[in-house]
Amino acid sequence: MVAKILFAAHEKHYDEWRTVLASELAERRVDAEVVYGADGANDFSYIAYAPDGPLNDFSVFPRLKAVLSLWAGIEDLVANPTVTCPVTRMVETGMIQGMTEWVTAQTLRHHLGFDRIVNGQDGKWRHHLMPPLASGRTVAVLGLGELGRACANSLKALNFKVIGWSRTAKSIPGIECRDGPEGLIATVAEAEITILLLPHTPQTRNLVNAELLAKFRNCAIIINSGRGALIDDDALLDAIAKGRIAHATLDVFREEPLPATHRFWNCPQITVSPHIAADTRAETAAPVIAENVRRGECGEAFLYLVDKSRGY
Ligand code: NAP
Repeated sequence: MVAKILFAAHEKHYDEWRTVLASELAERRVDAEVVYGADGANDFSYIAYAPDGPLNDFSVFPRLKAVLSLWAGIEDLVANPTVTCPVTRMVETGMIQGMTEWVTAQTLRHHLGFDRIVNGQDGKWRHHLMPPLASGRTVAVLGLGELGRACANSLKALNFKVIGWSRTAKSIPGIECRDGPEGLIATVAEAEITILLLPHTPQTRNLVNAELLAKFRNCAIIINSGRGALIDDDALLDAIAKGRIAHATLDVFREEPLPATHRFWNCPQITVSPHIAADTRAETAAPVIAENVRRGECGEAFLYLVDKSRGY
């Protein structure tokens, strides 16, 4: 029987995905059809899902074997009570490379003080503004999953002193790994640049609140490419106003697009980046979706299965 896959992301992505996904399915000899539009809900076995699509109510699909997220962040699916089947999240090489490039670039921007050069084209020769070498700079990565680990390794390869923090204890060569609440406080107190690559769960929501911001190293830089809800917006603005946080580069927000009236837009010490750190690329992500459909059809365990009780 032909397995039916509903493509439930924004319509603009469908043409590209249909072609590459069909080719990846054929390569694996999976008899499956990808369609856009949920007519005949009874027939669907899989949903390739992204939150930019129209789908909210999954209860109308009685025969689902899995919802296959096209995004790495799956908080919407975990919070949706109509999603009762297994959920997989996206882990793919293009996204990992994209995030590594974005985080490394943002870290180097702050490390080398590029803003002073870009904004300082005013006839003044500031030769004295010599940055330290990366080996003299401590950078923290909060979240050591697929993306955090890749970014931490990339920064380590540039000789930064890298500290990582995660829920469970880790051992990564060349990276000082910490966990637990005390590990978090010690990490943000030490790091000059702190990168957030945590998922949005009940435990991580508002993790960076006034209490934690008070523990950050003085004049620290924050780079958030995890999720907007990790940071208490008002507490961040307050910490910036007090000079505790020197700059925050934010790619993710509680509400996206960030409303034009949001105070972040008018704060010179905040850089707003429009959720572009690491997009899913059909070319590198379609093999992951096709492989999970193959596994589902053969009764094998799915790749990157979400632990709904953990929230990620
Ligand atoms: P992942 O592989 O699931 O890793 C998540 C990491 O966070 C793990 O190290 C996990 O710890 C840690 N963690 C989770 N809850 C924690 C807690 N309460 N305390 C401490 N550590 C905790 O996720 P990923 O693929 O690296 O992606 C991370 C996030 O990046 C996604 O959830 C998404 O929100 C975001 N993202 C953003 C973009 C963008 O364009 N801006 C693109 C893709 C993804 P353990 O290792 O101990 O489990």
